[in-house]
Formats: sequence, C-alpha cells, structure tokens
Amino acid sequence: MKRVLVTGGSGFLGSWLCEKILEKGCEVICVDNFFTGAKRNIYHLLDNPKFELIRHDVTFPLYIECDEIYNLACPASPIHYQHDPVQTVKTCVHGAINMLGLAKRLNAKILQASTSEVYGDPAIHPQVEEYWGNVNPIGIRSCYDEGKRCAETLFNCYRMQNSLRTKIIRIFNTYGPRMHPHDGRVVSNFILQALQNKDITIYGDGSQTRSFCYRDDLIDGMIKLMATPDEVTGPVNVGNPGEFTILQLAENVIDLTGSNSKIIRMPLPADDPKQRKPDISKAQKLLNWQPTTPLREGLLKTIAYFDELLKTEPEFCRGEE
Ligand code: NAD
Ligand code: UDP
Repeated sequence: MKRVLVTGGSGFLGSWLCEKILEKGCEVICVDNFFTGAKRNIYHLLDNPKFELIRHDVTFPLYIECDEIYNLACPASPIHYQHDPVQTVKTCVHGAINMLGLAKRLNAKILQASTSEVYGDPAIHPQVEEYWGNVNPIGIRSCYDEGKRCAETLFNCYRMQNSLRTKIIRIFNTYGPRMHPHDGRVVSNFILQALQNKDITIYGDGSQTRSFCYRDDLIDGMIKLMATPDEVTGPVNVGNPGEFTILQLAENVIDLTGSNSKIIRMPLPADDPKQRKPDISKAQKLLNWQPTTPLREGLLKTIAYFDELLKTEPEFCRGEE
C-alpha cells in the first residue's frame, strides 16, 4: 500500500487532498504546525486507520518513511504570509530543503505546491510556464513570491543533481469550502461580508483581474500531475482560465447571496498584480485535465459552506478562537 506524506495537510487545500488520497486506498501522513491550518479540517479523518497526523514544522528535518510527498506547507494568503515574513521564507526554503532531503533518502516522488505568484505582476498575459515573471524581490509580497521561486529552484537542482523524481504545480487562485474565514482572501472576504450584509471591500478600483479555480478541480489536477511519468516534471499551471475583475466577483457574490451589502473602495496594497490568467495548454496536454466548475457554481457551494459556518461556529467566524 502506498504511503503518502502531505505537508500542510490540515489547511484548506491539504485537508481536501488528504481526503482524496485516502479515497484512493493509500495511507496518508498529514504533517502540519497548525499556523493557518485547523484540526477541524481533518477531525473527520482522525478515526481512519490509514490516516496519521503529526504536528511538525517543516523548517525542521523530518524522519519518516513514505513513497510520495506533496509539499503544501506554507501560509498562502497575503495577510497570513506577511504576518511573519521571515518564517514564510524559512517555510518555503528550509521546508523545501528538508522535504527534498527526505525524498532523496527514501527515493520518494515529491510534488511542490508552487504558485502563480512566481509570475509577480505579469507582463505576459495569459501566463505561460515559460514566462520568468516580474517579481519585486524586496516588496511586501516577496517573502512568499521569492520563497516559492527559490523552492522551485531547489526542486530543479535536486532533480538535476540527484535524479530526484520531482513535480512542480503552479496553482492559480483557488477557492472553496474550508477556506479560513480570516485569511483575507478575496473570495472568503466577499462571501462573509455579503452573508452578513456588511460592506464589500474592494481594494483599488476593482479593475484588477484574477482567475478563480474551484478546490475540487485543483486537487484533481494536482493528483493527476503526481501520477504522470517521471519525465513530466513541470512546472505546470493549474487553474481556471475564466478571468474576472474583482468588481465582477463582488457583483456575482452580491447577486448569488441576495445581499444588501454596498461596495466600498479601500487602498490597493503594494505590488498587487493587475491581471492574472493561466494558460493551461500544458495541463490539458500532459494531464488530460481541465477545470469543470464554473465560477458561479463554485461560489454557490462556497457560499453554502460559509453560511453554515456562520450559524454553527460564529466564534470561529468572528476570529474569537
Ligand atoms: P492554507 O494556509 O490553508 O494551508 C497551508 C497549511 O500549511 C496550513 O495547514 C498551515 O498550518 C501549514 N503550514 C504553514 N507553515 C508550516 C510549517 N512551517 N510547517 C508545517 N506546516 C505549515 O493554504 P492553502 O490555500 O491550502 O495552500 C496550500 C498550498 O498551496 C500552499 O503551499 C500555497 O502556497 C499553495 N497555493 C495555494 C493557492 C490558493 O489559491 N489556495 C494558490 C497558489 C498556491
Ligand atoms: N481584494 C479585494 N478585497 C478584499 C480582498 C482582496 O479587493 O477584501 C483584492 C486584492 O487586492 C487582489 C485580489 O482581490 O487584487 C485577490 O486577492 P487575494 O488576497 O485573494 O489573492 P492574491 O492577491 O494573492 O491573488
């Protein structure tokens, strides 16, 4: 039986990944330091004899046995990764070194959860994997952007130098149930604001664009990339190419929730990318993958999740636990 390590396994994407791998009959070891993840995301898996949880910070070495490693450990939202930028860099870089070292000792296959942020504020649109990016190395987003870029470099070096079986997925904005209510990302912010008839906070004029991928589509693409032959190393963009302005997203959320919320403008954070849309030709060709969930369908499922969370766990939604 295959044993799979998922770092960051109690987070938004990690917990869903753990679930999907268990469904395939594999054993899962979930490693997390609970910085942004939560035990509530994996409670329902704790009784499963094939599931194991280890509290551990990936910036320290880890000695376990496994066949495959998905390296997701890293805060992903701007307010979370900017909270402790030094720890973010350490998680990206030392975390990658430790997990690559583990993979080398075990001859395990290893996948890195990289990001569209490696393209920075892109001058090429839509973004293809060959584009090297436009990243400020000393801005407020750089702890994450440059940390993730360095992790990609490390994956490539270990592959070339040690013949390690590595894969890199570049994830574009992904949303869905189990997003943290206080991670400040645009989808969760707008939905929670709309459900409570609070003002919807648009940063800047709302003309900046993002392409939003539903969680299930993303995890499907990630598992498919891990299953590719060894010569498929990536990076491979995985995201939904449907592109929306932030204003359009706000209007959709207001419409789908039937909210009375008003849209207000707030200052645009520094280095906020103006546009983002994946070219997914590689994923289509190499993984036979493409997203199947349109934005409004995914939003409805996410709205239902947060609606329920507001009723059942109001303290968590208010940030009081
Ligand atoms: P998340 O914050 O919900 O999950 C990250 C998990 O990593 C959390 O459980 C957190 O506690 C854990 N973690 C953080 N630092 C750690 C450390 N030092 N040691 C052990 N665990 C640690 O975020 P997510 O959206 O699920 O993102 C998962 C991965 O996907 C991240 O690597 C992120 O960079 C990448 N990604 C996500 C998106 C997205 O839109 N969701 C986009 C691009 C890339
Ligand atoms: N944003 C916004 N209002 C919010 C949260 C975010 O207008 O309440 C904007 C943000 O400035 C950015 C976009 O939405 O232009 C996506 O932000 P998010 O933090 O979700 O992801 P990222 O910027 O990393 O793509």
